[in-house]
Amino acid sequence: MFKRLSITFWATVFVTVVCLSLVGVDVWRSINARSEQLLEKERQGANLARAMAQQADDTIKAADIALADVVERIESDGRSARALARLQQQMQAQVANLPQLVGLFVYDESGSWIVNSRAVLSQAYNNADREYFIYHRTHTERGPHVGLPVISRSSGKWIMPVSRRLNKPDGSFGGVVLATLDIDYFRRFYESLDLGTRGAVALLSNDGTLLLRQPFDSGRVGSSMRDSELFRHYAAAAGAARTGSAFFHSFHDNEMRLNSFRPLEHYPLFVTAAMSREEMLENWRRDTFTRSIGVVVLAALLGFFGKRLVDQIKLRAQAEAELRQARDALESANHTLERQAMSDGLTGLANRRQFDVTLGNEFSRAMRHQDTLAFIMIDVDYFKQYNDMYGHSAGDEVLRAVSKLIRALTPKRPGDLTARYGGEEVGILLPNTDLAGAQAVAERIREAVQNLQMAHNGSPFGVVTLSAGVATIAPQRGVHVAGMLVEAADKALYVAKSAGRNQVSLA
Ligand code: GH3
Ligand code: MG
Ligand code: MG
Repeated sequence: MFKRLSITFWATVFVTVVCLSLVGVDVWRSINARSEQLLEKERQGANLARAMAQQADDTIKAADIALADVVERIESDGRSARALARLQQQMQAQVANLPQLVGLFVYDESGSWIVNSRAVLSQAYNNADREYFIYHRTHTERGPHVGLPVISRSSGKWIMPVSRRLNKPDGSFGGVVLATLDIDYFRRFYESLDLGTRGAVALLSNDGTLLLRQPFDSGRVGSSMRDSELFRHYAAAAGAARTGSAFFHSFHDNEMRLNSFRPLEHYPLFVTAAMSREEMLENWRRDTFTRSIGVVVLAALLGFFGKRLVDQIKLRAQAEAELRQARDALESANHTLERQAMSDGLTGLANRRQFDVTLGNEFSRAMRHQDTLAFIMIDVDYFKQYNDMYGHSAGDEVLRAVSKLIRALTPKRPGDLTARYGGEEVGILLPNTDLAGAQAVAERIREAVQNLQMAHNGSPFGVVTLSAGVATIAPQRGVHVAGMLVEAADKALYVAKSAGRNQVSLA
């Protein structure tokens, strides 16, 4: 089956396979590059989340240390004017020291401040209604509390309150110590992170409240994200599983983002860094697009030139087939010509030229092998009269019929040859045959022609007859030539004619 398929077929298969593998390899490479790109971005997101968690933890921790210090002083040194004056200096130094710290405040149990880090501050402010104040009044824990960002009543800036409870000596609620953190401090840090143009970061409490989001939107501060895919995923995880990443539709703008989240080490908060999926794959898309164009162009060129190549091969194969056909036709024409050149048109017997060649060959062979060579010369009787009486074409018919008969009755051994020797004379060459054998052949022919009973009113026999002269020779070198055999047969024929025709005469 493989042999029968043409070279054109295989060339087509080859070109097709090359084009397809080119495209296939590129598709495979693109798929790989895509997952590579996503993995890379995931690593990048995880690093960002780690940096954010660390920054938030450190920022809050520094303020919290200052808070713990103030709590300890008030509870041990009391609230005398002297103690508070010293404490105020201390607090001022702390605020100057820590860039994220906007202010430190101490409130009594009614919500009025008793000392703060500012030089002047109106006593009109009462913070008893603030979330953190209510929290500490109703909770006895001494640990830090991170509140929702609010706009400061004293500075008008967005701040994040971090607070601790003050106890009276009897353990009852004695007020609140508050540190306010500058939201801009966080924002500046978040702005320095590279999240692309459509990325987002957020700081959330473990109960799902949004503390801060970049891009910043004051309307969202304090809003609940409990119903977001992100929070549900985070809340469902525990321990180490709370650090990770996953794709979510944004709670805020519905953009599909890869969210990398991570809890803070010391506070019940967590951060998330989110990168737009579209943006993550933008480079990959551009890359794949340009490459694909290149590959398609290449495949098209390959296909185009491959097709031309296949066409060329097809043409060549065609030309070769035609050439073969032409050669075969020429060969057979040559064959025919050869045959025609060696045979006689009217009778189909060998012509005189072939007779001469064969006679020469057989004469030499007989000389070499010391064989006998016989020759019969046949001539139709009264043929001139026949032509005169019946017409030339009727004479041709007789020649044809006689020739057919002679050919049928002549032995067909190799070297035997029946030729039209002259006008109505036929010569029969019989190698390796003696006089008696040749005579028998001649006699058989003569009798058969007579028995054909072709009417011939110009002949005393009334039918077409023929006479034959038979001669043999065992040729010897230097003594005989081929002409002698023909001459002898001719003489014998003459004798037959003289003796009355319709007979065979031997030399
Ligand atoms: P004979 O009995 O002595 O042989 O008398 P003949 O008339 O046959 O005399 P000859 O053998 O000399 O005759 C030759 C004649 O044969 C001359 C010619 O008209 C005729 N002839 C020779 N070739 C052809 C041929 O191709 N076709 C025809 N129709 N006649 C031929
Ligand atoms: Mg004759
Ligand atoms: Mg004759």
